[in-house]
Amino acid sequence: MPAHNILVINCGSSSIKFAVVNQTHAPFALSGEAERLGSPEAVLNWQLAGEKASLKIANGDHRTALTQLLPIVERAAGGTLRGIAHRVVHGGEQFASARRLDADALAAIRALAPLAPLHIPVNLLGIEAAIELFPTLPQVAVFDTAFHQTLPEHAFRYALPEHLYREHGVRRYGFHGTSYRFVSHRAAELSGLSLGDSSWLAAHLGNGCSTCAIVNGQSLDTSMGLTPLEGLVMGSRSGDVDPNLHSHLARTLGWSLEQIEQMLNQDSGLLGLSGLSNDMRSLEQARDQGHAGASLAIEVFCYRLAKSLAAMSCALPQLDGLIFTGGIGENSPLIRSKTVAHLKLLNLALDKPANARTIRGASGPIQAHGHPRVLVVPTNEERQIALDTLALLN
Ligand code: AMP
Repeated sequence: MPAHNILVINCGSSSIKFAVVNQTHAPFALSGEAERLGSPEAVLNWQLAGEKASLKIANGDHRTALTQLLPIVERAAGGTLRGIAHRVVHGGEQFASARRLDADALAAIRALAPLAPLHIPVNLLGIEAAIELFPTLPQVAVFDTAFHQTLPEHAFRYALPEHLYREHGVRRYGFHGTSYRFVSHRAAELSGLSLGDSSWLAAHLGNGCSTCAIVNGQSLDTSMGLTPLEGLVMGSRSGDVDPNLHSHLARTLGWSLEQIEQMLNQDSGLLGLSGLSNDMRSLEQARDQGHAGASLAIEVFCYRLAKSLAAMSCALPQLDGLIFTGGIGENSPLIRSKTVAHLKLLNLALDKPANARTIRGASGPIQAHGHPRVLVVPTNEERQIALDTLALLN
C-alpha cells in the first residue's frame, strides 16, 4: 500500500496556507501560502522538493489560488492523495473531533458563523472551492476547538445568565486544540510516559497565545474562551481586560463597538504595550538596546503567562511537565526563563545552558536537575490535522 498524502488547507481572510503531508515522512512534500488574495499583489508561494517557486495571481481570490494549486499538488502527491483536510477555527459544541464534510456537516459549520464571523465564512469559501476542484477526494474538517470539548462545565461556563449559554452558545470553547494534541503526544513520548496517564501544563505562544491543562490526554482547562481574545497577552490582542472596559470607552470616549473590537484585537497586546511591534523577536532586540516599551511588554507578557499557568495548575492532579511551543515558546530562552522565574511555588526551575540551546526546531527537557520537567516541543499542526484526517478516512 503506498504511503498516503493529505492536502491540508488553512484559509484566512486574505490567505491560504497549504501543505501536502505524508503519513510516514516528516518533511512536507509541498508547502506554501497564497497571500494578499483579492488584491493586485496576490501571489502564490510554494516549496516543492526543496525548490522555492512563486506565481503572481493579480486580483485572484481563494478559488483562483486553489485552481492554480491543483497541478502543483498533483506533482507533489501524484496518485497518492488520500483526501483534503480543512482547518476550521470554530466547531462550537457540535464538533468534538474531525468530521467528514457532507451536506449536514457543512450546514452545521455554516450555523456556527455567529461565533467566528471573520473566520467561518472564509473557511467555507475554501471548503466549497476545494469540493468543486477536487470532486473525487474525501474532504474533512478539523476544528481548533474540538480538543477542548472535554472541559468540565465548571471550567467552560461563564458566570452569566444561563439562557445566554443554553440559547446562544455563550461559553468558553478554547482554541489551539490541534497544537495541544500534537505537543502533548510528543511530550509523553519524549518523557517515556503514557499520554493516557500523565498531566501537563502547556503554553502555545505564537502570534496568538494560550495555555492549557492536559490530563490523561484530555483538555481540562484552557485560557482562550468564546473567542481567541480571552486570556494571555498576545502579538496584537489584549487578552483579559475588565469587561466594563467596553462601556467605559463608549461612555468616556464615545467609541463604537467596532472601534473597541479593533483596538482590542489589532492595536493591543505586545504591540500596544511596546508602541513598537507585535513581534517578540523585534521586541527582544529593542529591549537589548534599552527600549523601555519593549522591556515593559516582555515583563507583562511573562507575568500574565505565569499567572495563567498557575491558574491552570488547579486542574492537574500532579505535574508531569510544562510544555513550551509556538514560535515564541520554541525559540525564546528569555521568555521561558522569565516566565518560569514567576513559578517558584510550582518548584519550577530551568537549566540555563539547556534552555539557551533548545531553539530552532530542537525539542527536549530544559529543567534544572531535581525540578519538575519543562519541555520545549515544536508544534506541527499540519501533521496532526493530516493524522486525524487519515485516522477518520481509514
Ligand atoms: P508563530 O505564530 O508560532 O509563527 O510565532 C510567531 C512569534 O514567534 C512572533 O512573535 C515571533 O517574533 C516569535 N519568534 C520567532 N522566532 C523567535 C526568536 N528567535 N526569538 C523570539 N521570538 C521569536
